[in-house]
Amino acid sequence: MILLGSTGSIGTNALEVAQSFHIPIESLCAGKNIALLNTQIQAHRPRNVCIADKNDAPKLIKGDYKLFFGNQGILELIQSSKSNLVLNALVGFIGLEPSLKALECNKKLALANKESLVSGGWLLQKAPITPIDSEHFGLWYLINQRPIKKLYITASGGAFRDAPLESIATATPKQALKHPNWEMGRKITIDSASMANKLFEILEAFWLFGSTNIDAYIEPSSNVHALIEFLDGSITAHISKPHMKLPIAYALDNKQALKQSFIQPTSLCDLQLSFAPIDTQRYPLWCLKDEILSNPKKGIVLNASNEIAVEAFLKGSIDFGRIAPLVFEAIDTFHHLGELKDIESIIELDLRVREFTLRNI
Ligand code: NDP
Repeated sequence: MILLGSTGSIGTNALEVAQSFHIPIESLCAGKNIALLNTQIQAHRPRNVCIADKNDAPKLIKGDYKLFFGNQGILELIQSSKSNLVLNALVGFIGLEPSLKALECNKKLALANKESLVSGGWLLQKAPITPIDSEHFGLWYLINQRPIKKLYITASGGAFRDAPLESIATATPKQALKHPNWEMGRKITIDSASMANKLFEILEAFWLFGSTNIDAYIEPSSNVHALIEFLDGSITAHISKPHMKLPIAYALDNKQALKQSFIQPTSLCDLQLSFAPIDTQRYPLWCLKDEILSNPKKGIVLNASNEIAVEAFLKGSIDFGRIAPLVFEAIDTFHHLGELKDIESIIELDLRVREFTLRNI
């Protein structure tokens, strides 16, 4: 398989699952964590390797692999790999072009990079995609032949779900990175605290399952990932311990995934479930849910402004409380989006939104 983002939270879990399924790793791609990439190269002996920055090449261990660099290098690595499966665990907008390239090369796409669907869902063929996000995996798991009334996904509530309201706006990156249930990369952990992540997942669900009848509720234990309400009045729920190895296993090989458990089953007697609507005072970004569902291409504006705002927050340039206003300002400004029929027009809009948001910081 081809693994993009191998040194991240999803990437390292994916390598463990691939190893236990005896799936050879043909190609690895990472960013700046060359020390970890080196151990992965030693363990998996890939034929192709891509790193973000050419200047890091001297730090790589020697080996019998072809080396690629930068965003263009990721596309070349996909093109020149023979494997039929690409797992895209890159973080951010840079994941969109590799997703498109994987599909253009007729490969199956195990998709963790949610920003691909958020920023360009209309350009991606859906059939070759298996979602890795636990909520969309949960929906996929639950869907059967019966007519559906409504889809639900859940949210943990992130780092500030129990924090005093007045403390959230000035919370530090260290506090925002303390997720109550999941161990994930920095960007998605901040997005969980602000609820941007759930807006992304609403859009993902829209593009993957073709419905605007989607809502999200807070379920603090993160044992319930998704629910489906059927026309007959029944609701079914997908329940599993919060661990990404389960959706990753199904995305890599669903026949093997059926027969092997990577997680402890949830103990039913210990389950304490409660569901609550998402409070827009605590999570102001959630106000955008209906607006983005009625114009899903606004996902580009949402994603680009949020990426810039989160980066600025993690660097200490803005308060946590400034993330949502920066996104609102971008959404209000970029309302005539045009057709956005190709990747070039998406990249151009993404860039304009980034420049606008940077100026607003
Ligand atoms: P991480 O930040 O942990 O990992 C991101 C990966 O992308 C790293 O391997 C990083 O390399 C690599 N990367 C970043 N920039 C570049 C670049 N310019 N060129 C090449 N590689 C790059 O993120 P996560 O694993 O948490 O998340 C990955 C994606 O999956 C995100 O879209 C996230 O929203 C989604 N997701 C994550 C979940 C989770 O549980 N973590 C759950 C559901 C979805 P390096 O570290 O070497 O710089």
